[in-house]
Amino acid sequence: MADRTPGFDTLALHAGSAPDPATGARITPIYQTTAYVFQDVKHAADLFALRAFGNIYTRIMNPTQSVLEAKAAALEGGTAALAVASGHAAQLLTFHTMMQPGDEFIAVRQLYGGSINQFSHSFKSFGWHVVWADAEDVGSIEKALSPKTKAIFIESVANPGGIITDIAAVAKIAKAAGVPLIVDNTLATPYLCRPIEHGANIVLHSLTKFMGGHGNSMGGVIVDAGNFDWSKSGRYPLLSEPNGSYHGLKLHETFGSIAFAIACRVLGLRDLGPSIAPMNAFLILTGMETLGLRMQRHCDNALKVAQWLKKHPNVSWVNYAGLPDDKHYALHKKYCPKGAGAVFTFGLKGGYEAGVKAVSSVKLLSHLANIGDTRSLIIHPASTTHSQLNADQLKLAGATPDVVRLSIGLEDVEDIIADIDQAIS
Ligand SMILES: *Cc1c(COP(=O)(O)O)cnc(C)c1O
Repeated sequence: MADRTPGFDTLALHAGSAPDPATGARITPIYQTTAYVFQDVKHAADLFALRAFGNIYTRIMNPTQSVLEAKAAALEGGTAALAVASGHAAQLLTFHTMMQPGDEFIAVRQLYGGSINQFSHSFKSFGWHVVWADAEDVGSIEKALSPKTKAIFIESVANPGGIITDIAAVAKIAKAAGVPLIVDNTLATPYLCRPIEHGANIVLHSLTKFMGGHGNSMGGVIVDAGNFDWSKSGRYPLLSEPNGSYHGLKLHETFGSIAFAIACRVLGLRDLGPSIAPMNAFLILTGMETLGLRMQRHCDNALKVAQWLKKHPNVSWVNYAGLPDDKHYALHKKYCPKGAGAVFTFGLKGGYEAGVKAVSSVKLLSHLANIGDTRSLIIHPASTTHSQLNADQLKLAGATPDVVRLSIGLEDVEDIIADIDQAIS
């Protein structure tokens, strides 16, 4: 074993998860505790001053959570990670650590709808301003740069629309501008794509989706690539300047390549408070053990469903990067050759009425607003998640009345196809 680099599935099972040192339990226990006894007064003081690593209070750190963090960092190839209550909490703490009031960040429009809301509305009240660009036109990201830009945010694989972003091209722009590239890797997972290998500085996940994978727990994670110099420009003071709440400690100088993950924990998580429940960390850890097996099956099933839909007389178009004639096929081959993910959209010739009929007629698929479950899921955005938008807004959002979105699960693919067939025929 010693001279071998473990493969992905070995890491998914073993990274971070040694037998419990106190009891020998082979499975990581659910450490359902709020606080931890100090060894003595000096130990307590060292923990509070960040002179020693250790558990103080579960808002900041918990042993079940720590195993999840070690596993996520190993799978993404990062130096450290921080697990939090949800994907949105991961985004909040990431930006909290790098943004000051009045700062800007660039995000591409092709994002999860909840992120568009968070960036355009809630972040505005912190004085953090999003500047939108286009994932399919990397030049638009360069044009959006300004002296106030603090970060660039993209998704590796974006829903809906089956978009694959040219991560290396965006990383080049970020590097030249001296700002970090943040990649939301929720839809791809590290099994399909490892953004750090293409130049990403921070990788985020909603663990709620494929990473946990069973539709039972909310969670998010921030993975620190350890490859960004937070002190160079003096524009990330939370990391580079003496911190008043830690006796003037400079986080980047002290913690080097894990400074970002530490800062998110000891400032953002400590003060804003979105910690992950130990029970959720446990359930997500269990899901992550089979990530490779599940993702391959998700992708294989999705490709077969997409190929079948493409030939269906009631279907006008299918957006799935795994189809050779899709405009994102080449990027799929470059960034996630094992599969193009399991979330995609297609259009029904019958428009709005046909979309409503389809989601009302499925028997095996679940009609709901989620993705990345073991089960196959379906939604008709125009009548649900996007029903408040007018015709122009629907078009911009890629949610025209004919659009149906699928998240293909792990059932026998013949059964998935049979159910969709009876629902759209
Ligand atoms: C779901 C999702 C999020 C938000 O995650 P939550 O766990 O729901 O807070 C962010 N990005 C993407 C791509 C998602 O699918």
